[in-house]
Amino acid sequence: MVTKMKNEVIQRYIQGDTLVIVSSVRDVCEEMAEKQNLTLNGDYIALGSAAAFTAALAAEQKEDETYITACFKWVGTKKLIAVTAFGDGRMCAYSDKFEPPKDVEGVILEVTRHSDVGGEYHSVVIGRNVQGAVNAYISESMQRNAKWKVVRDGRMTVGIFAEELPGSSDLRKVWDSVKPFFRLLDEKEFEKAGCEKLGESELTFGCHCSKRSAQRIIETLPKEERESLGPTAEVVCKFCGRKYEVENG
Ligand SMILES: [Zn+2]
Repeated sequence: MVTKMKNEVIQRYIQGDTLVIVSSVRDVCEEMAEKQNLTLNGDYIALGSAAAFTAALAAEQKEDETYITACFKWVGTKKLIAVTAFGDGRMCAYSDKFEPPKDVEGVILEVTRHSDVGGEYHSVVIGRNVQGAVNAYISESMQRNAKWKVVRDGRMTVGIFAEELPGSSDLRKVWDSVKPFFRLLDEKEFEKAGCEKLGESELTFGCHCSKRSAQRIIETLPKEERESLGPTAEVVCKFCGRKYEVENG
């Protein structure tokens, strides 16, 4: 497939009263995969889905929110991938193993919305697979009439998120009209479908860690653990690998 789709972009369109957000990741995904040693193809595909979804969520976030973290947990393989995305297009990820709770199958999706004023808003849903978990998040947590789809072309992952504005009912019509894009991955298909482009911004690798956040990690450790450390401690960011020397006093 020869696509005419740009990489590393978020695009916003509107058709009628439905907003369409398109996220496209490749290089940023490869950078995140490299930093997390995700060498298996299946892991890379999982990261692509998680990254495209989180970038789209961050692009439609409320103004007072600073960033969004979406953590996908695959019960079958006991692997998790968490992606953090900012409204300005920066994103980063980490992967880990986890111990699944009993009697749960499929994919657990935990979304944390970080806001400067309201603190953190956390929600958890479960689905049979990634698409099922995202659908559950849209209906149960966002309580929106919206649709989500992921399309892949080689190392590139493209996510399409369409959301009805309040009081509208044209989601199905808009979704049907943009379907040729899923197959062709040609941006012109949006215009042909009657979508108006609202804007486009770049996605880049970038972390949210700081000396202050590293300091806070040490400060929130249990007393015994803090006492076992020296007067200074090293904190390594699990997203970007950056090291911080912080005081433990
Ligand atoms: Zn970092």
